[in-house]
Amino acid sequence: MTRVLVVEDEPAIADALVYALQTDRFEVSHVMTGGDALAMLVDEEFDFVILDVGLPDMTGFDLCRRLRETSAVPVLFLTARDAEIDRILGLEIGGDDYVTKPFSPREITARVRAILRRGGAGESSPVRMTTERSVEVLFHDAVAMRIHCHGICLDLTAHEYKLLLVLLENAGRVFTRDQLLEKAWYDPGAVTDRTVDAHIKSVRAKMRQARAGAEDLIQTRRGLGYVLVME
Ligand code: CA
Repeated sequence: MTRVLVVEDEPAIADALVYALQTDRFEVSHVMTGGDALAMLVDEEFDFVILDVGLPDMTGFDLCRRLRETSAVPVLFLTARDAEIDRILGLEIGGDDYVTKPFSPREITARVRAILRRGGAGESSPVRMTTERSVEVLFHDAVAMRIHCHGICLDLTAHEYKLLLVLLENAGRVFTRDQLLEKAWYDPGAVTDRTVDAHIKSVRAKMRQARAGAEDLIQTRRGLGYVLVME
């Protein structure tokens, strides 16, 4: 059984979450403070940690940083504020993903499964004592409909997601703006090719955020369009 630690101080949220996870056949432990979580993580092994950012005795960020000194266990953050998302997914904190409140407990269990799948569920040693996780430059999680860049889940809008997916699934192929509009927009007639440029710009920025200093995978072919280049 997959063991999940839930660190959440709001009883209503915690209860709903624990119930949903147990229904989905996870083995769940719940604590309300960072201190209790750290004590528990020393004593027991977990396959997954769900971590509220706002805890009574420390922030979820501090807790995750402490955890990351010894463990690469997947961490899903619960956050009430959009402003916290960038920090969560930044390398500084080392979170694997986040969900903003309010959320549906079903959404959480689906996310936990998706993250475990991508991290290789079923390993005999669940908490991997390593600082380096093997990550792909771009990874498409078809179930969760998310794209990860250097191991970090990109926070893409629906159109950005579809746009990047088209380029990713056809890496090396040059697309004109019209072709991208056709493939990634439901109603291509309603938008202009400038829309494509704006979305490409935004996707590039989000990929740069995932890994500062990484070179642009999406290249501009002047007068032609765009191509995604994977080394
Ligand atoms: Ca809280």
